[in-house]
Amino acid sequence: MKYSYISHLYCPKCDNTFDTKEQNQLCTCGSPLLVDYDLDEVKKNVTADDLTSREPTLWRYHELLPVKEQFNVVSLGEGMTPLIPFRELGSDMTVENLYMKDEGLIPTGTFKARGAAVGVSKAKEIGVKELAMPTNGNAGAAWGLYAARAGIESTIVMPNDAPKITRNEVALSGANLYLVNGLISDAGKIVGKAVKDYNLYDASTLKEPYRIEGKKTMGLEISEQLNWEMPDVILYPTGGGVGLIGIHKALKELKELGWVKGELPRLVAVQSAGCAPIVKAWEEGKRESEFWKDSETLAFGINVPKALGDFLVLDALYDTDGCAAAVDDESMVREQEKVAQMEGNFICPEGAATFAAVRRLQENGWINPNETVVALNTGTGIKYPDTVQVEPEMLEKEDTISRVEK
Ligand SMILES: *Cc1c(COP(=O)(O)O)cnc(C)c1O
Ligand SMILES: [Zn+2]
Repeated sequence: MKYSYISHLYCPKCDNTFDTKEQNQLCTCGSPLLVDYDLDEVKKNVTADDLTSREPTLWRYHELLPVKEQFNVVSLGEGMTPLIPFRELGSDMTVENLYMKDEGLIPTGTFKARGAAVGVSKAKEIGVKELAMPTNGNAGAAWGLYAARAGIESTIVMPNDAPKITRNEVALSGANLYLVNGLISDAGKIVGKAVKDYNLYDASTLKEPYRIEGKKTMGLEISEQLNWEMPDVILYPTGGGVGLIGIHKALKELKELGWVKGELPRLVAVQSAGCAPIVKAWEEGKRESEFWKDSETLAFGINVPKALGDFLVLDALYDTDGCAAAVDDESMVREQEKVAQMEGNFICPEGAATFAAVRRLQENGWINPNETVVALNTGTGIKYPDTVQVEPEMLEKEDTISRVEK
């Protein structure tokens, strides 16, 4: 039995195909490449039940992942994060079957670890010695650390005002860290030049085909955790959209394998009102987005003014009868507090955005009260120490606790 049933890479725009032994980046037409598997062979050799006894990491789905030889796997135990029922918050917003997929419990504290684990493992397998990437913070931290574990050198460029915690993670990993006075798009230009000048492997979002395969495992896990039943709705905080494209791809693969039944869930791309190019394109019925000028949001993980894979995100929304929703930063922070107080979980602002969207979509009738709804919390709140504002009077020093009896 094979460890992976990867067959080839293909271009979703021009249908060109590529070999998986090469260090492939974009298609010659400029589109991202996707991985195809020999699903008929998987079907003959593996059943969904075979998975249950395997290790609780994303590598339990190795047949549907691109790494051919197990010894190339670079792992920190990532994946199989909990799918937690949120009864109290659900009842607060009249969504009886509300779940949170909690990516806060993963190495590096965000789901970027999934993309990094699979992307770095595959990079190792195809002989990459040095990779380079721009980042808003979380991806750089994950790739820097996984590259360190793999013995691959990394060059990571991030905006000066990316969160200091992620900058420190990158620096500590031994990566070559460069700060730019600008946005992630400026960091991207610097990486593009370095990739050409020094012949580096470009690990920018969707410029290598394997990160998406790592993020796809969120969709595989949600299905397995719901006993191979599809939920009705999945909401995802969308920046580059890799996670959403990945979840869509995963569910289609599972359907082809016959491991899940029923309709695909309606996929929802949630963005910040301060950076909502996908929402705008969806509202206008377009197939591609336009660059969002002067983007601004405290949810820095979804501050992406123009995504290379925007057409794949929009395809996923149209294909599943999904939608796109923008929420403002204030609603995110309010929802973040509700989740902490009602469910005991300190989630990141991006994750909080998905709950703000559930609330609104229920109010306007797009989500029915009895539907099964899964919201992705893409990271832990602990990585965002500055988004929480503590009331000044709480910070006053006291020698005794005085309280009024109720
Ligand atoms: C990167 C990131 C996102 C957005 O992920 P994409 O797959 O690029 O859309 C969401 N939340 C957090 C915490 C992130 O770091
Ligand atoms: Zn192409």
